[in-house]
Amino acid sequence: MSQEQSDYELDFFQAVDRNTVAEQAIVDALMSIRDDQYYSLFEIEAEHTCGWARVQVFPERAGTLYRCLNCGMAGIIGG
Ligand SMILES: [Zn+2]
Repeated sequence: MSQEQSDYELDFFQAVDRNTVAEQAIVDALMSIRDDQYYSLFEIEAEHTCGWARVQVFPERAGTLYRCLNCGMAGIIGG
């Protein structure tokens, strides 16, 4: 495997790691939410891949929809 390929892969896996850590931070921030906060849209603070940011979350029983208000990344955690 060439060095170039290794850097290519390293960049990929580091990006996945950063995103996984950020998603875990969002999950951690939602550990203590009340039952009535499920299926409602609200904001939390969490360390996203872009740094500390306000993150919109919409927790569902099966997963959490989120959007970072700093960088605009949105996605689903869990499911
Ligand atoms: Zn962000």
